[in-house]
Formats: sequence, structure tokens, C-alpha cells
Amino acid sequence: MVRRQTKKEIAKERIDILVKSALKEKDEALAARQAQQAKKIAMRFRVRLPYEARQLYCKKCKAFIVPGRGARVRVGSRAKTRAIRITCLRCGHTYRKILGWNKDL
Ligand SMILES: [Zn+2]
Repeated sequence: MVRRQTKKEIAKERIDILVKSALKEKDEALAARQAQQAKKIAMRFRVRLPYEARQLYCKKCKAFIVPGRGARVRVGSRAKTRAIRITCLRCGHTYRKILGWNKDL
């Protein structure tokens, strides 16, 4: 049986495509536009951005930051957690992301 996609599913798919192409896009202005569009779709259809995509927006200035391009990323490892520090090169805001727990390393 073929189930019809709900609007939310279609929205999620479009967001996914936009985020992926924004990541690959060499033209930063275009990447930023695609990223903003993905965010707009997420808001309109009240879907959450996928976890990986949420990491890509600066918490402070909301800019789309691609690790290695618009941001400086440092990976640190502690006893229990693996975390990365992301610094937005646009506003200088730094935040930490916990990648996971070391138990499965
Ligand atoms: Zn920023």
C-alpha cells in the first residue's frame, strides 16, 4: 500500500535537500539563502530542523555556519563526553556541542 506523504514529510524532505546543498555550495551567499529557506520551511510547517542541521546555525547571529568555513571548530575529549567547540567567525560567539558519550568509543 502506498501511503501518501503528509505535508510535514514533504517539508522535511525539502529541508533536507536544502541543507545538504547549502553544505556543498561553494557560493556562500547562495548557501546562506538555501539555509534560510530551509529554516523558513521548518517554521511554516512546524517541523523541527534535523539535529545536524540545527548545529549549522549560529545561536547568536543566526548565520548559517559551515564548519571549516564560517566557523572554527575544535574537538575536545574529556573523560565522559566528546564535545566540539564551535566559534562563529561572524559574531565571535562560541558554543559547545556534545557529540556523544565515550562509552561507545
Ligand atoms: Zn554568529
